[in-house]
Amino acid sequence: MNKNERCGKLIFLKPAFEHKIWGSAKLRENYGYDEPGDDIGECWGISAHPHNETPVLYGEYAGMKLSELWREHRELFGNAEGEEFPLLTKIITAEDDLSVQVHPDDVYAAEHENGARGKTECWYILDAEPGSRLAIGHNAGSREELINMIDAGRWKDLIRYTDVVAGDFIQIPPGTVHAIGGGITLLETQQSSDITYRLYDYERKQDGCLRPLHLEQSKEVITVPAADVADEIIHDDSADDVVCLISCDHYEVYRITCRDELTVEFDRPFVLMSVVEGEGTLKSDRDNGAGESESTRVKKGDHFIVPAGFGELAMSGSMKIIASCLPL
Ligand code: ZN
Repeated sequence: MNKNERCGKLIFLKPAFEHKIWGSAKLRENYGYDEPGDDIGECWGISAHPHNETPVLYGEYAGMKLSELWREHRELFGNAEGEEFPLLTKIITAEDDLSVQVHPDDVYAAEHENGARGKTECWYILDAEPGSRLAIGHNAGSREELINMIDAGRWKDLIRYTDVVAGDFIQIPPGTVHAIGGGITLLETQQSSDITYRLYDYERKQDGCLRPLHLEQSKEVITVPAADVADEIIHDDSADDVVCLISCDHYEVYRITCRDELTVEFDRPFVLMSVVEGEGTLKSDRDNGAGESESTRVKKGDHFIVPAGFGELAMSGSMKIIASCLPL
């Protein structure tokens, strides 16, 4: 059986990579990606964003960009509305601290960034080395205090950090100060957007230059006061097979744990899935016309979309999947 037949109606995507000064070889070593270099920072697993698209791997749409598939075969996505494919899934691994940043919301981005989308994102922590931490939120009590602290460069007083462990989940609404710290690997689900305002970069130089900051935009879009950190980090130790980690205006994210056998059915037009641990077999409840149901092997690091009308997805093996879809 070749790969084209094997995968049935599931849409597997070919990951795309971003090389970064804070990257490493971890995505190749731990996730099996065939990507050279010791500075791999991001694997874009499911993306129709023009900066780095993931083409379809197998089957009748092989080689097609996800943006083309969205435009030309909207039936695969349950005829969902929208000019652009709305979500983006990445695995990010940081050897060093990333710059501290904030994203605008849709209203601000539309007005100030040529009609672009804002960005709500969320993180599922896959690995955190001892002592690694995230920046999340800030300590200013009012906008005036925020502006004064930024102008005075009081970064240590301003930026709030917190420790995280594997399995933690963090929702990052627009206006939230945030940064991934060195030693952390996570899966990010986000609105398909790239509008980022850099607040603080630890005075690091790249090729002898400081990277540009966006202090004026940051002062406008940062939410004041910040939400409580305890409200932002969900550590869910539930043994349930399917756990809803977040449901917001832009997406829903689920953690699916297959311990031996599991069947899931989503009442959503399409679902993005990333295998983040283990391996197993996926089966459709439909047969392939030859009296056999279609099945395919998947492993950690695989990314695919379950299209509209797929029906039940039967899994076997031992694996963890992070799934996302549009809210109802
Ligand atoms: Zn971000």
